[in-house]
Amino acid sequence: MKRRNIIKAVGAAAIVGTLSACKPQEQNCKQQAGEQKLHKWKMVTAWPKNFPALGTGANFLAETINQMSGGRISITVYGGGELVPPLEVFDAVSNGTAQMGHAASYYWKGKTPEAQFFGAVPFGMNAQEMNAWLYHGGGLDLWTELYQQFNLVPFPVGQTGVQMGGWFNKEINSKEDLKGLVMRIPGLGGEVLKRAGGSPKILPGSELFTSLQTGNIDATEWVGPYNDLAFGLYQAAKYYYYPGWHEPTACLEGIINKTAYDDLEEDLQQIVKIACVAANQNMLSDFTAKNKTALDTLINQHKVELRKYPDDVIEELKGHAQAVFDELGEKSAMGKKIYKSYKAFAEQTRSWLDISENAYFKAR
Ligand code: CA
Repeated sequence: MKRRNIIKAVGAAAIVGTLSACKPQEQNCKQQAGEQKLHKWKMVTAWPKNFPALGTGANFLAETINQMSGGRISITVYGGGELVPPLEVFDAVSNGTAQMGHAASYYWKGKTPEAQFFGAVPFGMNAQEMNAWLYHGGGLDLWTELYQQFNLVPFPVGQTGVQMGGWFNKEINSKEDLKGLVMRIPGLGGEVLKRAGGSPKILPGSELFTSLQTGNIDATEWVGPYNDLAFGLYQAAKYYYYPGWHEPTACLEGIINKTAYDDLEEDLQQIVKIACVAANQNMLSDFTAKNKTALDTLINQHKVELRKYPDDVIEELKGHAQAVFDELGEKSAMGKKIYKSYKAFAEQTRSWLDISENAYFKAR
């Protein structure tokens, strides 16, 4: 009866079938008579289906898990809006409508502001540093602890690397130009812009082009050249600013319904974990490999004007970013704990990267 309840709780996700790969010494082959549990999962995402890097990254994860598990876990991927709207991924996985989701943690700041530490911190850690913190600095343990109350198990699934600053219809020549600016920019970056006098909005990627074209927003950030080209944002704005001060990387998240995750046999849990590590690195490589070619296309073919944010704009934003970061660490006991860990790790890793990566960038 208990078994039956668990199966019901994960949305009838697990069914019993037969797999020829079953070996008697494996714990989930206790029913050597031939019956083995199959886990049929749905993965909802915040991206258009098959969208470059983000959507294909979710596909990569699903396929990798399907293959590594020999079909014992079978995941079907849904694009944003196919099963649930893009910004409802968190709730859908939390309540078991889907067993898995792929999105970005800062979309959920209304539910748990502390989640933003794991997505992107303006002027904070880059992809290399984030991965180090998450995997080897206690970051993922804190993220897991934070999401437990939502019946979710999180994993980093994709780093974007440093993003672009965004698309603007007017030039940003000084910090005065930020005042009154209506810009799509989620998470802590949005809060920073607000304090600089702007008006941030959170919109799913699929709405960016129309919002920019109709003047609903004056500017938008999305990811970087590879993704921004795919959305055709160059048709709605002329100036393309860098660097993405607000997202030194976006660490995307794979979230799993905890009941569904706990229902997995131990070896399958390990497969899911390792597949997420692989997908996390794979996406960063994908972006790094394709961004420059896309940027060349934007500039040469679509006549986009590349602009660097003026120093005073960066300085203004950096000041607000520090305050926003510090305040986030004061919101709750859990926030304090994550803040302390993030801050200490970021400081120590920066002093190392200054004499390694950074010194090398300058030297080469
Ligand atoms: Ca972004």
